[in-house]
Amino acid sequence: MPAETRLFRCLKDNYGVLVHDPATGATASIDAPEAAPVEAALKASGWKLTDILVTHHHADHTDGIKALKDEYKCRVVAPAGEAAKIPAVDETVREGDTVKVGSLVANVIETPGHTLGHIAYWFHGDKLAFVGDTLFSIGCGRVIEGTPAQMWASLKKLRDLPNDTEIFCGHEYTLANIKFARTVEPDNPVLAARESQARKQIEEGEPTIPTTIGDEKLANCFLRADLPEVAAGIGMAGKPAVEVFTEIRARKNKF
Ligand code: ZN
Ligand code: FE
Repeated sequence: MPAETRLFRCLKDNYGVLVHDPATGATASIDAPEAAPVEAALKASGWKLTDILVTHHHADHTDGIKALKDEYKCRVVAPAGEAAKIPAVDETVREGDTVKVGSLVANVIETPGHTLGHIAYWFHGDKLAFVGDTLFSIGCGRVIEGTPAQMWASLKKLRDLPNDTEIFCGHEYTLANIKFARTVEPDNPVLAARESQARKQIEEGEPTIPTTIGDEKLANCFLRADLPEVAAGIGMAGKPAVEVFTEIRARKNKF
C-alpha cells in the first residue's frame, strides 16, 4: 500500500509532515519543529506516532522531539554525524543505511552543507524525499556549517533522484526564492509559471510543496549552476559549476 502524507505549518515558516504506512499503521514525523502541531495532525488523521526521523540538529527541527517521545514512546532516528546535538536519540543512521517505518523503507542520503551531519530520507518505493533544509522549492539552505562545495555536491545527489520524486522541505520560502531566482534567470519562462502558481497557492492558504525533482531541475537556479546559460547570466561563462554555485549562494545571502 502506498504511503500517505500529511503536511502542516509549524512555528513561523516551518513545515511538519507525517508519513503513514496504511499497511501497518506506523507513522513517522519528519523532524519535530514543535510538539503541538504534530499532535494536532495526529489527532486529525487518527494516526499514532511510532517514529521521528530527524534531518538535522537545528532547534526549529528538533524542539518538539522530547515532548512527543514522552507522550508516544516513539523511536527517534537521527543523523550519526550530529546525534549528540539532538535530544532523545534511539538510533543513528548514515549514508547507505535504510530506515523502516512499518513496511515503508527510506534510504538515508547524507547531504552536508547546511549542517555537517544533515541527511535526507528517500522513500524510493513511494517516490517521496524529505530533504530538511538542504533543498527548498526554487532554493537551497544556507551553508552554515559546511562549504559551498559540499552543498553543491549534496544538491547534485538529490538532483540525481528520479524526476517524479516528490520533495518535502523544511520551510515555506517559495515566493521569496522565486523573487531571487528571477534575478539569476530573468528569462526562464518556468519561473514565471511557478510564481503565479505559488502566489495562488499562498493566497488560498495552501502550501507550495511538495515540489518534484523534475520541476526543480527546470526552475531552481541552485540545481542549475552547471548549465552554461546560468553561468553566462551571472557573468561567469566558462567557470566551474562549483564556483557558479558559490556565487549564486553568496548573492542569495545578500538578497
Ligand atoms: Zn536548519
Ligand atoms: Fe530549518
